[in-house]
Amino acid sequence: MSLTVLFAASNDDWQKYSAALKTAFADARLDVALVTQAEPETVDYIIYAPSCSLRDFGPYKNTKAVLSLWAGVEKIVTNETLTMPLARMVDPGMTQSMTEWVTGHVMRYHLGMDAHIVNPSQDWIWHSNPLAQERTVCILGLGELGTAAARSLLALNFNVSGWSRSAKAVEGVTCFHGAEGLTQALGTADIVVLLLPDTAETANTLNESTLALLPKGARILNPGRGPLIDDAALIDALDSGRIAHATLDVFRVEPLPVDHPFWAHPKVTVTPHIAAATRPVTSSVEIARNIRLCEDGQPMINLVDRARGY
Ligand code: NAP
Repeated sequence: MSLTVLFAASNDDWQKYSAALKTAFADARLDVALVTQAEPETVDYIIYAPSCSLRDFGPYKNTKAVLSLWAGVEKIVTNETLTMPLARMVDPGMTQSMTEWVTGHVMRYHLGMDAHIVNPSQDWIWHSNPLAQERTVCILGLGELGTAAARSLLALNFNVSGWSRSAKAVEGVTCFHGAEGLTQALGTADIVVLLLPDTAETANTLNESTLALLPKGARILNPGRGPLIDDAALIDALDSGRIAHATLDVFRVEPLPVDHPFWAHPKVTVTPHIAAATRPVTSSVEIARNIRLCEDGQPMINLVDRARGY
């Protein structure tokens, strides 16, 4: 029986994904009509990104699941018309991309590369770096992306700690959880990486008081979501020298407004939400796999827990 799968994302996304999705559906032995418009009651699955105009899922009465093209579901998880199962994106290509971004920027901080890359006055800046095992990288969020980044950093000999909501055991990683765990995790962190979802509970995880827990001169990487950091508190901490530098990939408003102080701040690097895009080929395989599971009567994977918000 043929399935109708509605692709509800931008036109750009359609250009990138349509061929890859068709191949993945065929490989998963799924007979699919992949469409960008359909009568709502005929739609079996929706592949969704908030870049399209669809907000009312009420008319999609026969839709079995919505599959998000994005890993972060904060723009859709509170939509009360979306009552069917919602799967977030877990994509090996995206995970690899995030691991590369995190590892690259950790190495940049670890080796103090900026001092030499931008050195217009040709200063002979000598410094001795600690070895990786003498540097603690703390990853806030030990999910798909945080755990993969932790493993990559462990392989480079960094001392890695992590923090999650529930207790976790990741081999080689000093794991903390809960409110008290955050205090312990931040207390020893030379470099902090934020890989938490954007929820009511994670808003302003780094604020005036938690920034004060970090060792003086700590560095921050935020490839998670903008609201995880209190922007004003971060700027104060950078100005006072408590925090040495921050590299931010995500912001409360994107693109980051031209007059936002992060752009001009000498201790901030802005990257334009490029840490880890969903990759069409690898993510299409995951979407097809999840639809195949549902069609076979198996539990779908990567389902969002609406109560937790991620
Ligand atoms: P995930 O697998 O759902 O992992 C989320 C982690 O955060 C889990 O370890 C979870 O704890 C922890 N967490 C959630 N709420 C918490 C709380 N209140 N206190 C402490 N820990 C909490 O998510 P993921 O796939 O790794 O993705 C993480 C985020 O990265 C996404 O939500 C998205 O915002 C962002 N992202 C950014 C880009 C980019 O290009 N910049 C790309 C992809 C994703 P438990 O393990 O206990 O559940």
